[in-house]
Amino acid sequence: MKTRLLIGGTLACFGLASGCATNPVTGKKEVILVSEDQEVAMGAQSDPAVTAQFGLYPDQKIQKFIDEKGQKMAAISHRSNLKYQFRVVDSPVINAFAVPGGYVYFTRGIMAHFNNEAQFAGVLGHEIGHVTARHSARQQTKALLGQVGLMGAMIASPRVAEFGEQAMQGMQLLFLKFGRDDERQSDELGVQYSSKIGYDASQMADFFQTLAREQQKSTAEAIPDFLSTHPNPEDRYNTVHQLADQWKQANGNPTLAVNRDQYLRLIDGLVYGEDPKQGFVENGMFYHPDLKFQLPVPAGWKHQNTPQQFQMADPGGKGLLILMTAPGASLDEAAQAITKQLSLQPTESRRTTINGFPAIAFVADQVQQDQQTGQQVAGVRVLGHVIEDGKTLYVLLGVAAPADFPTYAPQFTSVAEAFQRLTDRDKLTRQPERIRVKKLTLRSNLAQALTANGVPAKRHEEMAILNGMQLNEQVNAGSLIKVVGK
Ligand SMILES: [Zn+2]
Repeated sequence: MKTRLLIGGTLACFGLASGCATNPVTGKKEVILVSEDQEVAMGAQSDPAVTAQFGLYPDQKIQKFIDEKGQKMAAISHRSNLKYQFRVVDSPVINAFAVPGGYVYFTRGIMAHFNNEAQFAGVLGHEIGHVTARHSARQQTKALLGQVGLMGAMIASPRVAEFGEQAMQGMQLLFLKFGRDDERQSDELGVQYSSKIGYDASQMADFFQTLAREQQKSTAEAIPDFLSTHPNPEDRYNTVHQLADQWKQANGNPTLAVNRDQYLRLIDGLVYGEDPKQGFVENGMFYHPDLKFQLPVPAGWKHQNTPQQFQMADPGGKGLLILMTAPGASLDEAAQAITKQLSLQPTESRRTTINGFPAIAFVADQVQQDQQTGQQVAGVRVLGHVIEDGKTLYVLLGVAAPADFPTYAPQFTSVAEAFQRLTDRDKLTRQPERIRVKKLTLRSNLAQALTANGVPAKRHEEMAILNGMQLNEQVNAGSLIKVVGK
C-alpha cells in the first residue's frame, strides 16, 4: 500500500471520433479513432493518476537521465512535435509503458535490471515507438500494470474472485495492450531511434533474455509489456539483432555506444525490490511504517501488497481480506463511498472502537450478475470495518460466499480487531535493499566474484540475472558488477 492512494481514479473512457489521417511512421492513410488533441488530453489526464498511484522515484539524477535521453530521442522521432514527458516511477515491478500523447514511464525495477545505457535506450525507443506509430490510439483495452489482481488466480470461489477484481477496478488506470504487429513495429522503431542517438541497438535484444530469465524465475510476476504479446522471445531476440546489424550496415558502420560503466554508476544506490516503507510482512504481521499501523496475517494465508491494497487469502481460496485506504472525510462518508463503489447492500452496521481508533463495523451483501445467464445471483457477503486514524481512513473487507461466511466471519473479526498503531522502531525504520556497484580486483567467474562481495549462494542466480550474465562467465579485474545490500 502506498501512503497516498488514488481511489476511484479510473481514467474516463474518451469518446471515439473517427477520421482519416496519415500515420506518422508508415506514411500511409489510415482511419484513426482519436485525434492528436485527444491523445495529448489523455496523457495529461492520466499522468497525475499514474504518479499518484506509484509515486515518482525520488532521485533527481535518474529522473534527469531519463528525461535527457528521452528528449533527445523524441527530437529525432516521427512525432517530434509532441511534448514528451519521461518519468521513473517508484515500483519494483519490471516494466515500462507509454500513454498516448507522449507520456513514457519506466519503473525503478526495470532501471535496476538494465546493464548499460544501450539496453535502456532500446526499450526507450520501443516505448516512444508506441507513441509515434499511434498504436495506443488504435487499440484501447484495459490491462493491468504490474502485480495488480494476482490474488485472483488463487481464489477458488468465482464470486469471491469477481469481488476481488471489482475492488481493484475503481483504482485501475487505463493501460494499453498492444498486438503482436504493434510490438514488432515498436521493436523496429526501438532499433532505429536508439541507433540514431548513438547506441548499439543489439543490446536491446540481450535485454529480452534478462526478461525471459526473470519471467521463468517467478511465475507469479506480471508479464512486462515487451513479452506479453510475444509468445516467442527467441524469435524477437534474433530479429532485433538482425535489425540492429542492418541499421549499422546501411549507415556506414558507425561506432555505437554501450556505456556499461556509466550506467552502473548511475544506478548505484537504486532501491531494489520491495520498499519496506510501503508495507511488508514479517512473522505473521503486516507492517506499514509510512502509515504507522500493523495488522495480523492469519496463519497459512497468502498475502500480496500492491500500491492499491493489501490482500490476504486463505489457502483454500474461499476467504479474502482486502485492506485499502478509503475516500471521504469521515467514517460515515467512507462507509457510504465504499458501499456505493462496490454495490454493497448493508444489512447491519454499528459504531465501535478498535484499539483506540474510531470505527464502523458492517455486514453487507453484494448481488452479482451471472456472466452466463445474466441473472441476478447471491454474490458474496462482506464483513467490513472502516477505521479512522486522524485524516486517514481505512477499509478492511472480509469477503466470502454466503454459505462460507459463517466459517470465516470470526477470523475476519479477529484480524480487524487486531489493527493497531505500529510503534516498534525496528519496523518503522526498516531500510530497503539497494543496488551496490562493486569493482572487481581479480579476474574470476561471476559466482566467485559474488561470493567475494558477500553475496550468499542462495542469491547467486538472482544476481546473475540482475547482471545479465551466467554464473560461470569470466569477469575481468577492474570491471563492475551489481550486488544488493542495505
Ligand atoms: Zn511494447
